[in-house]
Amino acid sequence: MEYPKTLLEAIQYFSDEQVCIDFVAAMKWPDGKPTCPDCAFNGPVEAKEPYYLKTQKRWKCRDCGRQFPVKVHTIFEDSPIPLQKWLPAMWLLANCKNGISSYEIHRALGVTQKTAWFMLQRIRLAFQNGNLAKMGGKGRVVEADETFIGPDPRKMHEKRRRKLQTGQFGGYQKAIVMGMLDRDAREVRAKVIPNVKRETLMHQIFKGIEGGSEVHTDQAVGYDSLAHSHFVHETINHTKEYVRGQVHTQNLDNFWSLLKRGLTGTYVAVEPFHLDRYVDEQAFRFNNRATKDNPMDDRDRFMLAVSQIAGKRLTYAELTGKVPPASNA
Ligand SMILES: [Zn+2]
Repeated sequence: MEYPKTLLEAIQYFSDEQVCIDFVAAMKWPDGKPTCPDCAFNGPVEAKEPYYLKTQKRWKCRDCGRQFPVKVHTIFEDSPIPLQKWLPAMWLLANCKNGISSYEIHRALGVTQKTAWFMLQRIRLAFQNGNLAKMGGKGRVVEADETFIGPDPRKMHEKRRRKLQTGQFGGYQKAIVMGMLDRDAREVRAKVIPNVKRETLMHQIFKGIEGGSEVHTDQAVGYDSLAHSHFVHETINHTKEYVRGQVHTQNLDNFWSLLKRGLTGTYVAVEPFHLDRYVDEQAFRFNNRATKDNPMDDRDRFMLAVSQIAGKRLTYAELTGKVPPASNA
């Protein structure tokens, strides 16, 4: 059976629970060998393969006897929401133009808005690609830039304005997102940073960009030591021009405008605590958009997201800030 290609096919295909379980199992265990969450890492190398209990829709470990569902050790862990809703929700978020609100998911899938919000936060975890390899390399261009994101008090309802003034986020303070974009790989990575001090920016650059790369930035002082390190540094003076030959940060500018449009349009108000996950979501769609060299379609993007569900979960307490987020959050 071919996997679905369109939203309509996906909704039909994933209407059956067993089909969903088989699909998630195939994505989670691509070698076709389910592993017990307890024995996987400390058991013998040739641990006996768990067997499937068809009526329970769970696997049972032959070594320790534990029974486990396909959702274990994934973003779906402990969720009472059936996969028949999780998978269409993932399809929608992976393939929408610029984000989907929890209200839309609530109406489309018949879950409460609070549940929909929680689902979206967890799905965004699957959108993190976790790629730690450095970008760029000798002769390659990486654009680096940062942008400020935050509420505009002039466009706010008075009640919200007053709440923000007295809220835990200290008024209208804007969050800072730093981005780096590898022009050859057409890949962006971005994250929230605490300030734009030189050491903060340089730390991100050393961590994220291969020495010898050509780094394009604006003339912010935070970047002025780049030329003295292992990079070729080209700057653009944004008060005068936006492009000088090949020197620009326009690809990153495009990403910023998508991110901001998504944030003001769909998500209305994002607290800084959650901003990193929204940035990851936007980066996932940006990095996996269809291009001539990389003809991704909706099914590819969805499959990619589902292939990244394992080993990641976020509890409600972590999401609401009641306990610090785990390292994967
Ligand atoms: Zn076991």
